[in-house]
Amino acid sequence: MNNRLYGNLIFELSGEGRKGYSLPANRFGQYDVPQTLCRKEDAALPECDELTVVRHYTNLSNNNFGVDTGFYPLGSCTMKYNPKLNEEIAALPQFQNLHPLQPDHTVAGAEAVVALLERSLCALTGLAHFTFKPYAGAHGELTGLMTIDSYHRSRGDLQRRKVIVPDSAHGTNPASAAVCGLEIIEVKSGPDGLVSLDDLEHIVNIEGPNIAAMMMTNPNTLGLFETRIPEIAQMIHQCGALMYYDGANLNPMLGVCRPGDMGFDVMHINLHKTFSTPHGGGGPGSGPVGVREGLQQFLPCVSPYHGNFGVLLRAYAYILSLGREHVREVGPLATLNANYIKESLKDVYELPIDTVCCHEFVFDGLKDKSTGVTTMDVAKRLLDYGYHAPTIYFPLLFHESLMIEPTENESRETLDAFIAIMRLIADEARTDPERVKSAPHLTPIGRVDDVLAAKHPVTTYKQLKNDNN
Ligand SMILES: *Cc1c(COP(=O)(O)O)cnc(C)c1O
Repeated sequence: MNNRLYGNLIFELSGEGRKGYSLPANRFGQYDVPQTLCRKEDAALPECDELTVVRHYTNLSNNNFGVDTGFYPLGSCTMKYNPKLNEEIAALPQFQNLHPLQPDHTVAGAEAVVALLERSLCALTGLAHFTFKPYAGAHGELTGLMTIDSYHRSRGDLQRRKVIVPDSAHGTNPASAAVCGLEIIEVKSGPDGLVSLDDLEHIVNIEGPNIAAMMMTNPNTLGLFETRIPEIAQMIHQCGALMYYDGANLNPMLGVCRPGDMGFDVMHINLHKTFSTPHGGGGPGSGPVGVREGLQQFLPCVSPYHGNFGVLLRAYAYILSLGREHVREVGPLATLNANYIKESLKDVYELPIDTVCCHEFVFDGLKDKSTGVTTMDVAKRLLDYGYHAPTIYFPLLFHESLMIEPTENESRETLDAFIAIMRLIADEARTDPERVKSAPHLTPIGRVDDVLAAKHPVTTYKQLKNDNN
């Protein structure tokens, strides 16, 4: 890292008259641009030589953290390795240069990819049809709820305006229901971390005819397998509502069990999570929605064409590379890795629900609460050791949630190294708590005041020199 240059804007590296280009001799003669189209003064553009530009952007890019640079145990996000083969397939010019308005007979290959991917997803989920239009998981949730809403309306069942969402649900679930114009009823988790059947029965008894759907994630956001889905589905179907499966956590179930067989009617899949598209920083994504037979006519048109086609290509390439036999290994390996970390750390980190987890699990901060070191401090200290922080303060069921999802690709050595660092931080919390509380010390930017940053974001940057525009 070139510290002298680091942190500057390209504008601050500018020097009058410096150039990174040379134009060929003018072969076209002189043409005057009309005065009305001309600037009054020159645009304030940086003037830099090529090497300065290359170093500047290379140094900036080195500040990125990604799955390709280090271990990324961000719970609920499934930051698995994205095989480079997928990128090669998605970059094939025959696919990349397609135009959506080309004549049908020239895009038969792309249509076949969509049809074959649909067939694979149907086989993996037990549902009958998929639409690929949604651009993300949350977009899929909205699409699925709109489908359910249309289904009820088509039957004249207009009073079904409420959606049951577990208190452990991902924040997008209640948000999507609200965007769809539906009201949310929260169902509580029991002490075992699973949806409480008593609370659900109570809700269904009171609200039965008003319920449009129940949304569930399985494994839920605590990484726990919801074992009572058959009873839940029966209760929900009996009152005339439908079961929605948030399939963002499909990874540990891949090839092992299927939402369609559990009684779910509508679901979305996060292709960018389970089916390996790079998705840090918000995109691109794809949240295909699957429905059981008889609901396909209610799928709405939420985007043009087939959504993010490049993500579909990556997903199909990934499925083909794994094949039917190896797709079955994803879930068990993700589950094994998560349990290995959990068991190796539960003597120093608080494990509120001590049971076998699926692909992820949640600690409630350090076991020794007397040090004053919080989950935030642990997460920041991990950055000093070159790890991406786990998901923190989510789910909301505990005060100090620290949610770890290693994914199936990580080796025993990587997991052991992470465990050693997590133990080291727990030691530091006892011996030198201030060091942990003031972390990170080795990143370009230290501890930020995230409340201030959220409430009063400063989105402009005061230049150090060339401050004349
Ligand atoms: C990631 C996630 C979502 C949202 O998916 P996006 O693609 O980020 O919109 C929804 N539910 C769960 C359980 C998730 O993990």
